[in-house]
Amino acid sequence: MYWDGVVLDDTERKQAEAVMQDYRQTLERQVQERTMALQQAMWELDRLATLDGLTQVANRRRFDSYLMQEWQRLARTLQPLSLILCDVDYFKRYNDHYGHQAGDLCLQMIAQAMDKVAKRPADLVARYGGEEFAILLSQTDRAGAEQVAEALRWAVESLAIPHDTSQVSQFVTMSMGIATMLPLQHQLPDELIKRADQALYLAKEQGRDRICHVPSGHVVAISA
Ligand code: GH3
Ligand code: MG
Ligand code: MG
Repeated sequence: MYWDGVVLDDTERKQAEAVMQDYRQTLERQVQERTMALQQAMWELDRLATLDGLTQVANRRRFDSYLMQEWQRLARTLQPLSLILCDVDYFKRYNDHYGHQAGDLCLQMIAQAMDKVAKRPADLVARYGGEEFAILLSQTDRAGAEQVAEALRWAVESLAIPHDTSQVSQFVTMSMGIATMLPLQHQLPDELIKRADQALYLAKEQGRDRICHVPSGHVVAISA
């Protein structure tokens, strides 16, 4: 047989084919390994791009995209969406008194404690900004959101992180604002954030370490 300009007998041809087969298999395995490594790197990159580096909960970017996604999904299925905005009370004083590193540790503990509470697959705990967290609860009505907020508040307070310079407690506490809406397709989710923010503002104004709710434009205090 002629192969690449060389005359090969049958044994040589079989040997050459075996070498080629071996080479092909090695190449295929290498391609498979590289593809898997690349896929894993992409998953890791995706995870890091949506995670808050300090607290290991979702970051603001993930929150924004998830809010938009759930708003549109629930507008189609006519189900409620609730948002809880949380803000650590007197956290500037905490940093001033215990140091910034202790402050970071405190935020990590709070985030992890809250992440354990909001554990349904469609729930999202995110770091919204400095010492503020946002919890999105899909298909959750007002009563459900209030229950989760109480559980979140309890989870953080039972960490019993000492806060000597707080005006409201000897431990670290949070104020929370809840808003619940039936999403509408032609509306943006900004209104939900605005209402939760109003409720949070009221919780602060009424003395902190409490939960307020905005059911339909009216702010109502539900716990103190
Ligand atoms: P309020 O009860 O009204 O919420 O008072 P506050 O002191 O918590 O609010 P303020 O907005 O005055 O201060 C927020 C503080 O949170 C100030 C800032 O230094 C601190 N902070 C924000 N992000 C971080 C962070 O990543 N790490 C630490 N250690 N502190 C942070
Ligand atoms: Mg704040
Ligand atoms: Mg604060």
